[in-house]
Amino acid sequence: MPNSNFAYDIADLTAKDRDHMIHPWVDLGTVQSREPLIVAQGEGACIYNVQGQRMIDGIGGMWCVNIGYGREEMAQAIADQARKLCYFSPFGIIGTPPSIELAERLTRHAPGDLKHVFFTTGGSTAVDSALRFVHFYNNFKGRPNKKQIITREYAYHGSTLLSASVSGKPADRGRMDLITSFIHHLPAPNPYRRPDGMSLESYGDQVVGDLERKILELGPENVACFIAEPLLASGGVIVPPPGYQRRTWEICRKYDVLYISDEVVTGFGRLGHIFASEPVFGIQPDIITCAKGLTSGYVPLGAFLVSDRLYSELTETAGKGQSFSNGYTYSAHPVACAAALTNLDIIERDDICGHVQRVGPYFHQQLETLTDLDMVGDVRGSHFMVCIECTADKKTKAVPPAEWDVARRIFEKCMPRGLLIRPMGHLIVFSPTLVISRAQIDEAVAILRACMSEVQDDLR
Ligand code: PLP
Repeated sequence: MPNSNFAYDIADLTAKDRDHMIHPWVDLGTVQSREPLIVAQGEGACIYNVQGQRMIDGIGGMWCVNIGYGREEMAQAIADQARKLCYFSPFGIIGTPPSIELAERLTRHAPGDLKHVFFTTGGSTAVDSALRFVHFYNNFKGRPNKKQIITREYAYHGSTLLSASVSGKPADRGRMDLITSFIHHLPAPNPYRRPDGMSLESYGDQVVGDLERKILELGPENVACFIAEPLLASGGVIVPPPGYQRRTWEICRKYDVLYISDEVVTGFGRLGHIFASEPVFGIQPDIITCAKGLTSGYVPLGAFLVSDRLYSELTETAGKGQSFSNGYTYSAHPVACAAALTNLDIIERDDICGHVQRVGPYFHQQLETLTDLDMVGDVRGSHFMVCIECTADKKTKAVPPAEWDVARRIFEKCMPRGLLIRPMGHLIVFSPTLVISRAQIDEAVAILRACMSEVQDDLR
């Protein structure tokens, strides 16, 4: 049960929010007329708004509250570290016990020889730093032309200029100026949108071939890296055709192109493993980026892990310009690292990966029961990453007109009934906490069915 009496002045908070908060990813022209959702508390898989109403959090904060809300041990670890040492910088060769312990501990879970960790402040800065590290590495190796970066449409890698530029969601790209000179987008490997009549196997060949053709077109000597989320999360939980991740990784190895696996969402249990790259997709990337579930959102932290193969080339000699001029005041923040260590303790002790492996398929199956609704075109994803794509016509897979605002209508109906979903145009995305129970899944799916049916009727 929540532990406060919810004595908030809601009108005052609402007015201050409208007058002073700038929110990302919302039409700023509508904020004056919309009631904000003001979240006051969380417990387990649920949140409570300032009115005291409970909702199952179908989005896990923002794909991040993996161990669930309200963990006393996390609060204690954060408070203990803040008292002991609130801050110290990692610049030069200064460390703190939690940051050093966390670096070593992460490498224990990582595939291959990913033995070295660079800490950042979140996912965007992890991606930004990883890409800058790749350029830095190629400069050090005397390959100043090997700088081209290959990515995909519908990817989301962050909001710094560089991480936003390697992202590829069309709705975001229209509005913002981005780097285009050394970044190349392949089509998204989305089986639902494959050409009519094409088998999944042929489609797999096509999208894998896209990468090889692009490397050859640019010249392998000019291509630095390929960056890919194992499943494209914010782009609509796009699950590439079987074998895609492994085959694209092999192509990168063939042409000496580095493979960056962006596990900001898929890491720390969301697909049932601390890192999904190797156990789920059979790849040993050169670099993995992570954030979100690294601290389960209790405090911000991100990181990239890099292979010993690359890193050892930089440490072989000294004084040859191998100082990585990239870092943040709050890189390796000791309070965040202490939180991450306790987060890992909880994931291991409570067998959260086991829970995801057991209950994740159930979540997916339950959402799949909604495919009998006319408006449900596709239910896709894996474990606790799922997307429902709504359609105006099941046969033609037509995207519903934007003015129907279909996902938002469903979102608005779900909230008062106790379910928070993430609406994205005609997509509904789910990434609940990893402690959600079967009973809570049943409750969420029942609410969703009722709300989707109503919206379907409203739109008739
Ligand atoms: N990479 C992926 C795959 C993400 O989904 C996100 C955020 O959603 C990011 C990077 C950026 O992370 P952050 O929002 O922590 O900067």
